[in-house]
Amino acid sequence: MLNNLKQKIMYCEVKPKERTGTINPIFTCQPAGAQYVSIGIKDCIGIVHGGQGCVMFVRLLISQHLKESFEIASSSVHEEGAVFGALNRVETAVDVLLMRYPHVKVIPIITTCSTEVIGDDVDGVVRKLNEGLLQEKYAGREVHLIPIHTPSFVGSMVSGYDVAVKDFVRYFAKKTQPNEKINLITGWANPGDVTALKHLLAEMQIDATVLFEIEAFDSPLMPSGNHVSHGNTTIADLESTANAMGTIALNRYEGGKAAQYLENEFDVPAIIGPTPIGIRNTDTFLQNLKKMTGKPIPESLVRERGIAIDALTDLTHLFFANKRVAIYGNPDLVIGLTEFCLDLEMKPVLVLLGDDNSGYQTDARIKALQEKVDYKMEIITNADFWELENRIKNEGLELDLILGHSKGRFVAIDNDIPMLRVGFPTYDRAGQHRHPVVGYAGAIWLAEQMANVIFTDMEHKKNKEWILNVW
Ligand code: SF4
Repeated sequence: MLNNLKQKIMYCEVKPKERTGTINPIFTCQPAGAQYVSIGIKDCIGIVHGGQGCVMFVRLLISQHLKESFEIASSSVHEEGAVFGALNRVETAVDVLLMRYPHVKVIPIITTCSTEVIGDDVDGVVRKLNEGLLQEKYAGREVHLIPIHTPSFVGSMVSGYDVAVKDFVRYFAKKTQPNEKINLITGWANPGDVTALKHLLAEMQIDATVLFEIEAFDSPLMPSGNHVSHGNTTIADLESTANAMGTIALNRYEGGKAAQYLENEFDVPAIIGPTPIGIRNTDTFLQNLKKMTGKPIPESLVRERGIAIDALTDLTHLFFANKRVAIYGNPDLVIGLTEFCLDLEMKPVLVLLGDDNSGYQTDARIKALQEKVDYKMEIITNADFWELENRIKNEGLELDLILGHSKGRFVAIDNDIPMLRVGFPTYDRAGQHRHPVVGYAGAIWLAEQMANVIFTDMEHKKNKEWILNVW
């Protein structure tokens, strides 16, 4: 038995990238994750304490992905601040933001590599502002200044997301009366995912606080004119997280810490994962909802599940079996996609996780993959795009499909490998943010998109294109 297990672990290796340095990173830096969280809060504009680029490029990326406009501020640190400290710029930024935006109540102050290196005491300046400026100039106005430490010389946008979720929850959560709701921490989701999750909750008649809720980023253009998008999670939502009957964090690395905090601090039971990608994980998610709330899974969802299984059955054995796939991106998404591909009889041969989180080595889902897989699969941590490109160009890696976000598209284009865009950021395909990857609807969408990408490739390369005529 032990030998058997060792043999399988040899099939599926988990190892860090062997080079120092990074060639074409898969992720951007920690403050980006904190910014993505903060746009999910209503009446909130974050101040990123650092150079303007730490906002400008991230905001552009998020805007390109969601095709919406939103607001986020910078303390705009320059040379003088980098040498002598730049806390005065935080003070000015808070004042300007409060003057310019009378509706703003929540201001996270998100640090960056430069301001962490120079050692700016952001917590200290928040105390100073609370006791000074807010009392003197904004007396009677509800304002919350929340320091969020996201130095970008550790972690990635994923850990930045996790840190920010926990910091917001820790700041606001207040025990009062039980609210008979559950907390649902979506993790780094698209508006389409939020809609799909709300649909599942509604079918089960579960009242949930969906946290860092960005559904409204798929916003209408109304006759009254254009306006910027904002998230829908309110201060009251955040405060009431301590009074919920439980928390489900769908992504271990994007909200798991906050769920654990609520359990430790307020006895709110936490269920962390699985990310409901594919049939099995969606089934588990619904079972977890049932366990937490006592609400049954309705016939309507059994039917949705049946439709999804029917759609997958049409594709799996005929088109997906043994297709060799490389997957990269946010770890929970990537693990969920890998599990889903295995269920579809595909062979994920290369899985790239783009940061140095030591937790991946002990992740139960990765251990389960190691036990399950009976062919050579590599899981590379702290990975970059060279890990993918080098294997294709120089080591003979053959792939039928790549799953990942837009940043890796040149590897697919240059090597003529079909690719489905999935994950953040996706900016070179229309409407991806509108479609869910979670739930039964997400399983259908993912499988059919993967199939269509493969079909297009078959036509293009005349590789058994005739099958499509008789299908
Ligand atoms: S790596 Fe540092 S300087 Fe660059 S965007 Fe991120 S926080 Fe800003």
